[in-house]
Amino acid sequence: MVLLLFGPPGCGKGTQSRLITNWLGIPAISTGEMLRAEYEAGTGLGIAAHSIMSNGGLVGDDVVSQMLVRRLALSDCRHGFLLDGYPRTVPQAKFVDNLLIEKGAPPVQVLHLDVNPSVLVKRMSSRRQCPVCGQIYNLVNQRPKREGLCDDDGTVLIRRKDDHESIIRERLKGYDQVTGPVLAHYASANYRRIHGDRPPAELFDEIAAILEPCFVKVRQSRGRH
Ligand code: AMP
Repeated sequence: MVLLLFGPPGCGKGTQSRLITNWLGIPAISTGEMLRAEYEAGTGLGIAAHSIMSNGGLVGDDVVSQMLVRRLALSDCRHGFLLDGYPRTVPQAKFVDNLLIEKGAPPVQVLHLDVNPSVLVKRMSSRRQCPVCGQIYNLVNQRPKREGLCDDDGTVLIRRKDDHESIIRERLKGYDQVTGPVLAHYASANYRRIHGDRPPAELFDEIAAILEPCFVKVRQSRGRH
């Protein structure tokens, strides 16, 4: 099973992908997280990507697609995976379509979290993340139990460099211009648009109801291997 989770920056993809993958037992692959990890590790790819990411632009299709190919070859992807933040362009969508055909994967399930832009700016400006475990918080509606500290490991929470208002507006503009056509590309696929301006648990309930048949298939596939 392959899930493509779509939505503008700050729509809650990161939170929902964690909930979905914990439930289904498949990995969530976020190209944004992978690029940040490359930068933390000081690789050439990470350093080159960092300046583009800091300015709210998109990293080159080839770079991101080849990084994804390496990730999907790992054994934890064999029962399926969720992609968060990829594909972001039509060439990336065509690339992953072909890759999945080569792998003999079933048709993708597309989930599109739709949220009003003004809500997104407010939400992202108040987003904080644990730099160690990746857990996401929000100072408005998902506060950590202890001010400024991760609930899971007590690490001091950080604000991502690209979560500042001018960069956020740039990212939303980029999303509309570039990623909109990707949704059109998947219009005839198993596509579900979900109203995303709701509490995370409520959103997850709707997603779980949509994915229930996939859950059965993942369990059957595990039973066979
Ligand atoms: P995200 O964590 O998904 O919001 O991604 C953070 C940043 O990483 C984006 O603003 C882009 O600069 C870069 N990025 C992540 N995924 C992709 C992708 N599929 N194609 C191009 N750039 C990406």
